[in-house]
Amino acid sequence: MHTTTNSDIHKLLHSLNFAAMKHNDQRRKDKDKSPYVNHLIGVAEILSRFGENDIIILQAAVLHDILEDTQTTGEELESAFGKEITGIVQEVSDDKSVEKEERKRLQVEHAPFISKKAKLIKLADKIMNVTDVGQNPPADWDTNRREKYFDWADSVVLGLRGHNREMENLYDTQVSEGRKRILKQRKN
Ligand code: ZN
Repeated sequence: MHTTTNSDIHKLLHSLNFAAMKHNDQRRKDKDKSPYVNHLIGVAEILSRFGENDIIILQAAVLHDILEDTQTTGEELESAFGKEITGIVQEVSDDKSVEKEERKRLQVEHAPFISKKAKLIKLADKIMNVTDVGQNPPADWDTNRREKYFDWADSVVLGLRGHNREMENLYDTQVSEGRKRILKQRKN
């Protein structure tokens, strides 16, 4: 009898369910404090929308913040989802024992050398983040802080390019619209 337990759809829902439970008590930084899981779904949806429907990529996408932002360990992730997905999630995770500015610098430095799958996930993540900063920023982020975020994201994304032109175009559009909004706000 055919079982659906190992189907790609089930794998994706299993990952999403796992991530939703682990990020259960977390909210995003926007002024409406959106549920954290919205971000994870958004990142996976961007990848899928632009043709990246490899199941490993989509699973790693919904799990991409789980090591950085929850108590989940690498061993726990590996026993639930295997080595490949865990490896990708590790590639896109910052080392939280490192101070914040140094972590940001390391993202720029490491971006060109991570795997293609990790690059695509990181690009989708940055698309979501610059869209949030442009359209729905945290309440206490002034125009300078938003501009600095775009500058930093641009330098990370420089190292991620070359695998999905349409996603890169979406990133560029979101940043240029975000920057235009900043200029407009400064004039007023
Ligand atoms: Zn993220």
